[in-house]
Amino acid sequence: MDLSLSPAERAFRDELRAWLKANPPNIEAPGSHAESDAGYIAALRRWQRQLFDGGWSGVAWPKEYGGRGASLVEQSIFQEEMAAAGAPELIGVIGLSLAGPTIMAVGTHEQKSRYLAPILSADEIWCQGFSEPNAGSDLAALGTKAVRDGDDFVINGQKIWTSFAHFADWCLLLVRTDASGAKHQGITCLLVDMRTPGIEVRPLRMMTGESAFNEVFFTDVRVAASQVLGKINEGWGVAITVLMNERANLGSGLYALFHRNYKALLGRLAKMRRHGRPALDDPLVRQKLAQVHIELEIFRHNTNRALTSQMKTGVPGAEGSIQKLYWSEFNQRMTQTAMELLGPDAQLAECDDGLWNYQYLRSRGNTIEAGTSEVQRNIIAQRVLGLPRSA
Ligand SMILES: Cc1cc2nc3c(=O)[nH]c(=O)nc-3n(C[C@H](O)[C@H](O)[C@H](O)COP(=O)(O)OP(=O)(O)OC[C@H]3O[C@@H](n4cnc5c(N)ncnc54)[C@H](O)[C@@H]3O)c2cc1C
Repeated sequence: MDLSLSPAERAFRDELRAWLKANPPNIEAPGSHAESDAGYIAALRRWQRQLFDGGWSGVAWPKEYGGRGASLVEQSIFQEEMAAAGAPELIGVIGLSLAGPTIMAVGTHEQKSRYLAPILSADEIWCQGFSEPNAGSDLAALGTKAVRDGDDFVINGQKIWTSFAHFADWCLLLVRTDASGAKHQGITCLLVDMRTPGIEVRPLRMMTGESAFNEVFFTDVRVAASQVLGKINEGWGVAITVLMNERANLGSGLYALFHRNYKALLGRLAKMRRHGRPALDDPLVRQKLAQVHIELEIFRHNTNRALTSQMKTGVPGAEGSIQKLYWSEFNQRMTQTAMELLGPDAQLAECDDGLWNYQYLRSRGNTIEAGTSEVQRNIIAQRVLGLPRSA
């Protein structure tokens, strides 16, 4: 990727900078319980609406679907400018990065007209109902059943770890519609209204103390057959599209969050003293901060590398797995460094409203969600490096 900006890209950046200056995010994240703080969630919805009204939601979505039609380089500029402005992550991330692109790729004309615009404006938030108690890494083992009854499917079963289900309006749901063949066959993807009778959302408590994901139970839930995304029994291909988008897109959106946390760490250290002098003058502190800074930059460049590949092929590639592995392990290293530099105070809820204690605990889930590190390493070994499968 050529990292020098063309005149058009500079104009894009300048327009965005001017807009962000006139429309600053002004959203303070609570240090702890960020993902389940109702006030913060509402503020994030308003922020995405503000971006939408300004024409900045779904920047890389095609214009025909309400996006800005920006190039992937411009999308990368967008992430960097959002980070520089201290903007928070977008609340509609599952819709913007997973459901939306998949509906664009395989949805019917009616589905595109119905679902895409409210995703951009955050009027409708989506969740992803893939994982089940016995189907996580081995997703094709899923057992939630949908049986055809006239014009409807009737769903029974359970999903687990469903982030945002407690306030989501829609769910991108994988169900088994045929159990007679190989496990990758007979899966169907459905677009399900979370307010349909028979859906019960039970919050799960994370080790951070918050409840940001859930168990979701389906009891005789009726969903019209017109809600199938793609073809009946061919949902595995749809799921792969979703997972590739997940690995390729969620990471780049996280740059803003990591950058914000890194700046918060710098800010806090600037106020601290260590061994009788300003903490930022301590060579050990400087060395550790430099390491975090370098790794954050590597993350940015890796994102650009994945985008370059996506620009060339038109689809997210296996680089997404490298990116997923990198961001999840980097965030754990960064929060570990923060805990070491800030000392025991960092573990207290009183320190920066519990920010570092929260981030440290929350980052543990990073190497599990969106595919575990072990599974990403398998994908990189086989699809990027071309190594043979283990016996
Ligand atoms: C914070 C968080 C949010 C999440 N949000 C969602 C969501 O919104 N929607 C959703 O559908 N799911 C969500 N998940 C679920 C997540 O995708 C799964 O937890 C993940 O895919 C792992 O599946 P599992 O938990 O069943 O573990 P398992 O697949 O049972 O894995 C257990 C262990 O075995 C290892 N393992 C498994 N297979 C292999 C293999 N072939 N080779 C080497 N090692 C292997 C794994 O790496 C892991 O260490 C979320 C998870 C977390 C932690």
